[in-house]
Amino acid sequence: MSEEHNDPSDVLPKDRDVENSGNIDEYEKICFLCRRPESKAGSMIDLPNNIHICTECMQKSFDTMKNSNLSYNDLVNLSNVSMIDLSNLHSQIPKSQRIKKKTAKKEPAKVLNIKDIPAPHKIKEKLDDYVIGQDYAKKVMSVGVYNHYKRVATETMDEIEIEKSNMLMIGPTGSGKTYLVKTLAKLLDVPLAITDATSLTEAGYIGDDIESVVSKLLMAADNDVEKAEHGIIFIDEIDKLAKKKNTNQRDVSGEAVQQGLLKLLEGSNIEVPVGASSKNAMVPLTSVNTRNILFICGGAFPELENIIKERLNEQSSIGFRADLKDKYDDDPDLLSKVTLEDIKTFGMIPEFVGRLPIIFTLKGLDKKMLIQILKEPKNAILKQYQKLLDLDEVKLEFEDGALEAIAEKALEKKTGARALRAILEEYMLDIMYEIPKDDNIGKVVITKEYIEQVGGPKVILRG
Ligand code: ADP
Repeated sequence: MSEEHNDPSDVLPKDRDVENSGNIDEYEKICFLCRRPESKAGSMIDLPNNIHICTECMQKSFDTMKNSNLSYNDLVNLSNVSMIDLSNLHSQIPKSQRIKKKTAKKEPAKVLNIKDIPAPHKIKEKLDDYVIGQDYAKKVMSVGVYNHYKRVATETMDEIEIEKSNMLMIGPTGSGKTYLVKTLAKLLDVPLAITDATSLTEAGYIGDDIESVVSKLLMAADNDVEKAEHGIIFIDEIDKLAKKKNTNQRDVSGEAVQQGLLKLLEGSNIEVPVGASSKNAMVPLTSVNTRNILFICGGAFPELENIIKERLNEQSSIGFRADLKDKYDDDPDLLSKVTLEDIKTFGMIPEFVGRLPIIFTLKGLDKKMLIQILKEPKNAILKQYQKLLDLDEVKLEFEDGALEAIAEKALEKKTGARALRAILEEYMLDIMYEIPKDDNIGKVVITKEYIEQVGGPKVILRG
């Protein structure tokens, strides 16, 4: 084989260069003197024969000439000296030493496009790939988001006032509230800011002032105001803003923050600092209109069930008080019977709830759902571990009993699906540590006994 063909990369680009001379632009220019590429040395001065000199070297050359006190005549004489043919030297730069320019990352294809928002059932279908159960919540959200972005795209707001589709989601911790919003924002490719309501305070108090949620969104949109104005703001733990009962102290964290949020929810121009969470003299300000920003508030609303129960008991007490009193005690769907009145009784001010027209609840996750969450979503935790071990060419399997045991342990923690990853990580640590030690291992089966700590995993050797 001739030497030329030893390195295929030396042959291929040549052919392509001929075919498509534009390709030369894919490579960085390199300074002929200092050999630095343009990404390091900055812009280049182009000379004939594809020779490039960085401005620094060019300046140095001029300085040298100046310092050597060459006269005008010397320079003229110099230009008559026959120069070495630099183009020959240049052609000696091997292709393997040329640096390809960094190309701007291509934007990932959008799954759903907010400009041409797909029908609600299509949105829900996509959510189904990631979020287990919570069918009602997914349906309500899909319709809400569809209407919201339809309104934004057609700008029909001025003709017939279509109400803004801000949402209030109520559900126990770890039931997927944040996950639903995150998934939705990712699918729609819109910026998302997640804030904890407890960190917000009225302007002037210690904490983040209310408008900081908008500046967070602006940051998530890479300071692109237009993008931010179509984004989603998720305010978690909104129940912590409930009016405190029987207090005569000034309420800075609760009711006042609800009041402060009103104008954001409704839509107004907000002056926000760029690149910082609070306004100060050092940061520039820009104006963001929140009219088309979708606000989703979420919270666990503990004690809300008691309020609902009390109301239902009162309603049904007319006539049969005694035997109906504990009728709702074990109702697993009690939360879904929530009304606006209940939320107001809980301590949310009427104007605030009034600006969240879409209210829905999420169910607490049961054992079956937890098992599904472990194995079914597109990026399920089990799939992630399986893929990791697959890279070592080791198969990983879980017995059904093991999955049940993990789900039971998670239920005990009462933090919903959040506990699953922590539990699994604890058990997988040893496996991930031990397996790469021995190349003969071909398969590991996680058993119920291993999870219940009365046995070990099954390890099967190759061959
Ligand atoms: P919260 O309701 O407290 O906001 P999260 O949405 O943060 O709960 O849930 C915690 C984690 O549990 C998520 O990151 C996600 O991985 C998982 N999870 C929770 N609910 C579901 C669900 N219904 N389907 C799939 N994964 C879920």
